[in-house]
Amino acid sequence: MTRFKEPLIRVEAIGKWYGELHVLKGLSLDVAEGEVVVIIGASGSGKSTLLRCMNFLEIAQQGKIYLDGEHIKPINKVLNRVRQDMGMVFQHFNLFPHMSVLQNVIEGPVHVKGMPKKEARELGLHLLEKVGLEDKPETYPAMLSGGQKQRVAIARALAMQPKVMLFDEPTSALDPELVGEVLGVMEELGKEGMTMVVVTHEMWFAKEAAHRVVFMDEGTILEEGTPEKIFSNPVEERTQAFLKQIL
Ligand code: ADP
Ligand code: MG
Repeated sequence: MTRFKEPLIRVEAIGKWYGELHVLKGLSLDVAEGEVVVIIGASGSGKSTLLRCMNFLEIAQQGKIYLDGEHIKPINKVLNRVRQDMGMVFQHFNLFPHMSVLQNVIEGPVHVKGMPKKEARELGLHLLEKVGLEDKPETYPAMLSGGQKQRVAIARALAMQPKVMLFDEPTSALDPELVGEVLGVMEELGKEGMTMVVVTHEMWFAKEAAHRVVFMDEGTILEEGTPEKIFSNPVEERTQAFLKQIL
């Protein structure tokens, strides 16, 4: 991993509880600029909670998070800025149904960032081309397939020009034949140098696109390494068991 410099994101020993339930147990993770990190692990191991703590949708009770070297304090003024730096794509796309595809994509830049409409339209059309939907700017979400909707959601997140993109099982609600078109767009993004943290059960994506694979188990990182190491040579028994069951 020596090709990467200072971490863009540093998660330092975070602890997260929901009531009595201890979900993240002193977990640390550095993500370098330009790095694609894929997080795998069983359901309930805390993957979504980790992503949600990284972009402060949830506030961890212990530990620190740094973005670009800045210790992020969980106060609104800071968080509004930090959340813009972290694009997030969820399992469910949550597009605005009453807005066209292009309107969905430019809503954030225009209304949150105050970008002039004309500039936002140009950016939006460029991003729609990037996700292979250049012929759909005026279409409404109801007319799109799940894979197309998710690609709009990616374009919408990119429109905020984030420093990092977080993906939480972006293809797990899709019909199998639509998974590839979404992961293909994400793979391209990674190749272009976007910093990404991706939770997915699609192991071929991890093999092809990840610089590093992180295996989470019961709120900690049990094992991490290159895809080659994790998939061909996992050391931990629990990693082996997980992979056996999923592959
Ligand atoms: P994963 O994404 O790996 O499946 P999650 O981060 O969603 O795991 O969940 C980790 C644990 O935290 C699970 O036991 C889950 O039930 C619990 N959990 C997640 N979100 C909440 C919440 N908002 N309130 C209470 N418990 C939660
Ligand atoms: Mg989850």
